[in-house]
Amino acid sequence: MTVPANPRPVAAPATIPHWIDGQPVAGTGRTAPVYNPSLGRVIREVALATQAELDRAVASAERAFAVWSRQTALRRARVLFRFKELLDRDAQRIARTVSEEHGKTLDDALGEVTRGIEVVEFACGAPHLLKGEFSDSVGRGVDSFSLRQPLGVVAGVTPFNFPAMVPLWMLPIALVCGNTFILKPSERDPSASLLLAELLAQAGLPDGVFNVLQGDKDAVDGLLDHPKVAALSFVGSTSVARHLQRRGAGTGKRVQALGGAKNHMVVMPDADMAAATEALIGAAYGSAGERCMAISVAVAVGDATADELVGRLTRRLAQLRVGASDQAGVEMGPLVTPAHLARVRDYIDIGLREGATLVLDGRNHGAALRADGFFLGPTLFDQVRPGMRIYREEIFGPVLGVVRVPDYRSAVELVNAHEYANGTAVFTQSGAVARAFVNDIEVGMVGVNVPIPVPMAFHSFGGWRNSMFGDHHAYGTEGFRFYTRLKTVTQRWPEPDSVRAEFVMPTMK
Ligand code: NAD
Repeated sequence: MTVPANPRPVAAPATIPHWIDGQPVAGTGRTAPVYNPSLGRVIREVALATQAELDRAVASAERAFAVWSRQTALRRARVLFRFKELLDRDAQRIARTVSEEHGKTLDDALGEVTRGIEVVEFACGAPHLLKGEFSDSVGRGVDSFSLRQPLGVVAGVTPFNFPAMVPLWMLPIALVCGNTFILKPSERDPSASLLLAELLAQAGLPDGVFNVLQGDKDAVDGLLDHPKVAALSFVGSTSVARHLQRRGAGTGKRVQALGGAKNHMVVMPDADMAAATEALIGAAYGSAGERCMAISVAVAVGDATADELVGRLTRRLAQLRVGASDQAGVEMGPLVTPAHLARVRDYIDIGLREGATLVLDGRNHGAALRADGFFLGPTLFDQVRPGMRIYREEIFGPVLGVVRVPDYRSAVELVNAHEYANGTAVFTQSGAVARAFVNDIEVGMVGVNVPIPVPMAFHSFGGWRNSMFGDHHAYGTEGFRFYTRLKTVTQRWPEPDSVRAEFVMPTMK
């Protein structure tokens, strides 16, 4: 199939619809506002699913499963190959949509689309990745082999901060394994989900195999409780992740729930300080700190390291370009909603009350003082201590705290004691220290002189402790395990009259 040159776009409606059975379906219930955070105003509404709409999406996915799951993996992968070409063609359009509703810069949004496309590329290897294992002659005349089979209708619930990438962590692998999929995107920036649906349809995906159900908490609970939904992948905050994992366990469903984070970057005295500062600024303030892999704590080993780091950060942050996400040269856009902006601003007050030293107050930044847009300038606290709420809790904004520790051992103990364990990084020029850190640190994803160690599509993504609930990490080979179940076959093709009843546990003869 060739890629159409001029696709028919889904018109931007006043209220963003669902996508069920291969077409947009208008909502009939409540709606929620969707903002352009750079302008600071509501630009459209999004439908919030009713129970009837949820039932319709599940029924469509269930019907489609009967056919889709019986396609060969090769055929399913070919649909994804075409999807990947279409994503490449429309990457700018998707990025513009993400940037408009989320507030991240266009380049940052393009980066997220690229990381999503990489998962599609990986999923195209499904015929190889779904191969089972085979043992010839496990007994005399008996062979054994394993199959990985799809689960059925599966649901994905995604957060606001990666409206294209996180759905693309899930859906390519779920679909190529033979499942049908219902995406429940964040109600804060839902439009990208419809672009994905449109491109999947153009790629030749049969109707009903991929559905989008717009909604909020009610839709998520409804999907989890629905008897025909076999599994749910969730990415979002820890409180919801924990709730869904527990509720899922009660219904006997497979649930993978990735939660929040508080990522530490350890800066050793021997680090290249210029490089560490640049890396830290990008990791802490990129996407206005609204990344689950953002660095929100810098752990400076030794006072001299801390003093130099804070000095360099302060000088560099004074030049950080904050502004509307579509403005050329902007390095940091606004926060996603007025409620989130208010929450992050509150944390600055909390930090001051707790006695941390406010080196740079983003509330006084020129962009934050403007009437339009949900802007906050870069904020830097020094002398942050482990008991403080600004250390313990996820702020999810452009607020970086510096914790001072005397030595390497204290840095490792600090990181390992935190309730969150998503990502971490060490900056050092010592191979021995780096190697020790990789072994000593109890965190799911580790960077050595790499501030945001998000694994590539052919590895897997996931944190430890309260940053992830469930057994399987996201995408990579772990994704294939999550979206399939194992069947092991033991077979014999006996000669006529050679089988006798056995009343003891079968053992190899
Ligand atoms: P959120 O938990 O508020 O929402 C995530 C999704 O869950 C949305 O689709 C939302 O509609 C739904 N939801 C919200 N409240 C719910 C409830 N009570 N019951 C059921 N569903 C509910 O998260 P967010 O604000 O959209 O995203 C930011 C959070 O996501 C941060 O905590 C961030 O660290 C985390 N995150 C984690 C990862 C990761 O890979 N670990 C990646 C991205 C974001």
